[in-house]
Amino acid sequence: MRQSIFFMPTLKETPADAVAKSHQVMLRGGYIRQVTAGVYSYLPLGYKVLRKTEKIIEEEMANAGVVEMIMPHMLPASMWEESGRLPKYGPEMFRLKDRHGRDMLLGPTHEETFTEVVAKSLKSYKQMPLHLYQIQTKFRDENRPRFGLLRGREFVMLDGYSFAASREQLDKQFDDEKAAYLKIFKRTGVEVRPVIADSGTMGGKNSTEFQAPAAVGEDTIATNASGTYAANLEMAVSVDTFKQEPEELKAMEKVATPGCDSIDKLAEFLQVPATRIVKSILYIVDEKKKVLVLIRADKEINEVKLTHLLDCDSLRVAETSDLEELTGAGKGGVGPVNADWADEIVADETVKGLYNVVVGAGESDAQFINANLDRDFKADRFADLRVANEGEPDPIDHEPLQFTTSIEVGHIFKLGTYYTETMGAKFLDQNGKTQPVIMGSYGIGVTRLLSAVVEQHATENGVAWPKEIAPFGIHIIQMKMKDEIQSKLAEDLEAKFAKYDVLYDDRNERPGVKFNDADLVGAPIRITVGRDAADGIVEVKRPGDDQAQKLAVTDLENFIASELD
Ligand code: ATP
Ligand code: MG
Repeated sequence: MRQSIFFMPTLKETPADAVAKSHQVMLRGGYIRQVTAGVYSYLPLGYKVLRKTEKIIEEEMANAGVVEMIMPHMLPASMWEESGRLPKYGPEMFRLKDRHGRDMLLGPTHEETFTEVVAKSLKSYKQMPLHLYQIQTKFRDENRPRFGLLRGREFVMLDGYSFAASREQLDKQFDDEKAAYLKIFKRTGVEVRPVIADSGTMGGKNSTEFQAPAAVGEDTIATNASGTYAANLEMAVSVDTFKQEPEELKAMEKVATPGCDSIDKLAEFLQVPATRIVKSILYIVDEKKKVLVLIRADKEINEVKLTHLLDCDSLRVAETSDLEELTGAGKGGVGPVNADWADEIVADETVKGLYNVVVGAGESDAQFINANLDRDFKADRFADLRVANEGEPDPIDHEPLQFTTSIEVGHIFKLGTYYTETMGAKFLDQNGKTQPVIMGSYGIGVTRLLSAVVEQHATENGVAWPKEIAPFGIHIIQMKMKDEIQSKLAEDLEAKFAKYDVLYDDRNERPGVKFNDADLVGAPIRITVGRDAADGIVEVKRPGDDQAQKLAVTDLENFIASELD
């Protein structure tokens, strides 16, 4: 490709609104342009990287025996009514109406469509196992689209769906897909860790996310040093090591605590450690149930764990302004003693084994001191409902948990029969019995993956693309366009190494301009054709090299082969 005809509108300045490194590089290098919030055009450079990534996916999925197809982007809302997911999905869904007033939507994911089109057509166990995927644009009206391709409202996803007649078949499909993903990530040059994850609104088990460590990541993963435990913080088991020395139970007493609207203030006012205070937080569950959640005050509630325990679709902390009406106590006073107004009281395990604690007194600005579980208040259920802390022992090998921010680039899980049961996709098993098809659901955020690669491979002035997805394998830079010897050599090299995908900078630009642009193209090998061309010598540089090195043209072939083959 001749750079003089290529479209690569580079920017000298970093756009002020781009905070993520990957966003900056992709804008400055002319890989992408924003059309509206979270919606991007892929310019030639960006599109090349995207296509190369898709090609790797296509190869690895074919190797794993997963078959490609494509579904429509625009879907009837009726399918989502059938699955019961329409009301749950909420404002993230792009909804529209056709001219007849029928409700339509732009697909944010395709479980329903695959169940409708594929699972319902499977009549016999003989047609399974079946394993399909597509690479397709998805639409999600994200609350905060940001960081360029990391969180878009229109983005490319690989989504896979498997159909099985038995749990064993599903297990194998899950393992196949996981193995293929690990190969895809390896080839795209991104460091990824599989971690235990939440399965969110889609239901299902064995949820595993693929997390790419990066400073800009919106997720936190908790891992141990020996690699035997890795979980999204949302799901990380918390092992509590705090122990209170047993004490004699004292009489419970009410004390006024004016203005103590935080745990810190309360602890200071009462001169007790946070470990002697039990926080009471009122949650409104599925917009109807009042659930009081108790937790030792040095810990935070993990709402994902709480959602799992309560098996609910939604939960939110009650508004401060509503507390008085709902419980009789304003902020800083809600508590578990005589809390008959609560539909349920659930407690984190840290509430057990405490003596003479502080709890809200059920009226504003007042607390009970010396309250005791079972004697003064109760909980209907106990569970690990807390956010794990860094340094706590992991639940497997009891090594200190380490936290890392990271980007979720993929997510796989065993869906089971949720969709096939709600939508009626049944088959006849070996014994002639009717069974729901067993599904798995799998996805990689392809465009997000590109950002993750750049986050991990950014250089001072650009990016060093891993060789398999670099937009160009070789970037030839000719110093002086009027020099015929240089032109002849550059053209020869362009032709000779064409199979590596060559970008040839044949523009009448200053060398400085060319080198700056080359940093943004990030080819694994840069060949500069300059003054020494007459002697059959060029300069080669890899993005990580401090300096270019001179190389005889006769040695180029070996050098390139050793780097790129
Ligand atoms: P997140 O927690 O980041 O919102 P998700 O749990 O909603 O992700 P899934 O529904 O599991 O994501 O989608 C599969 C994959 O699609 C994710 O692992 C991620 O890589 C990608 N993805 C999800 N939302 C976006 C988005 N808004 N922009 C780009 N990629 C996305
Ligand atoms: Mg999401």
